[in-house]
Amino acid sequence: MSEPLYPGYLNLLASGELQRRADAAWAVLESCTICPQNCGVNRLAGKKAVCRSTTECIVGSWNVHRREEPPISGTRGAGTIFFGYCQARCTYCQNYWLSQDGHGQNVTPAQLARMMLLLQKRGVHNLDLVTPTHYVPQILRGLVIAAEQGLHIPLVYNCAGYENLETLRLLDGIVDIYLPDAKYADNKHAIRTSKMPHYVESNQATLREMYRQVGPLTLDDDGIGRRGLLIRHLVMPNGIAGTREVLQWIADELGPETPVSVMDQYFPAYKALNDPTLNRRLNWEEYREAVDAMESTGLVDGFLQEDLMELDMSDAV
Ligand code: SF4
Repeated sequence: MSEPLYPGYLNLLASGELQRRADAAWAVLESCTICPQNCGVNRLAGKKAVCRSTTECIVGSWNVHRREEPPISGTRGAGTIFFGYCQARCTYCQNYWLSQDGHGQNVTPAQLARMMLLLQKRGVHNLDLVTPTHYVPQILRGLVIAAEQGLHIPLVYNCAGYENLETLRLLDGIVDIYLPDAKYADNKHAIRTSKMPHYVESNQATLREMYRQVGPLTLDDDGIGRRGLLIRHLVMPNGIAGTREVLQWIADELGPETPVSVMDQYFPAYKALNDPTLNRRLNWEEYREAVDAMESTGLVDGFLQEDLMELDMSDAV
């Protein structure tokens, strides 16, 4: 028996399964349940709901990106494609002009495929699809074209961790690296600040399914991510993110070897500037609490994205 091809989507291309998955995802647009918002609108007929998206795919920017986690950016960068609009309404979004205002260009699947191939030509380690969820059907159509024309670098699915299992199953064997958020431990914060109903349950089911598909992140000999799950968690002021609970759940339910990237670079953007619970950076105590949580939950593999110069040190001891 011959060795499976890498990345996985090349196997599915050869068998015709990649095209079948793209067709199946496209059919969901007729009564859209691509994500847990489950709007049920007919996007094929131009109806819009939470993500304000129909069949067109908006790309805000695409370029070589060197500031992801080291296994993602590596030495040659990640080929990042930032998509317009979003399934969430995070009041603190740092890319709100893209996620909420939808700035960018409408692209066809063929144009998306061309972006993928041009990024590959620039030598990047992977294709880093940022906020891809609501465009899974469009991305799969583009991927079929790109793979037929020689795309051969791994796919990174860089998302909010708010996915429907049916959609994730369409991505099984196609996505090599899942890079989801685990944003909240409490649904009341998820609703108030991001308008994502049932986020905690959806997020936990999402992380379990991603882990089932790819396991924890594995690296090649050069330390570059090859396949697996790397979870991101942004620490927020006033305990909004529930950092200790989120990390403990990951350690207990997925296993302490699950890599987690804990980020401390929160800053108030967009509507958070007018929200008394969100209108400041982390203070020293909150940063220390996150570090303690990392250590005490037993997680052994992860990154602490320290940005100490940006912290409010006024209450440091
Ligand atoms: S992808 Fe958009 S339209 Fe579809 S369920 Fe999610 S938010 Fe609603």
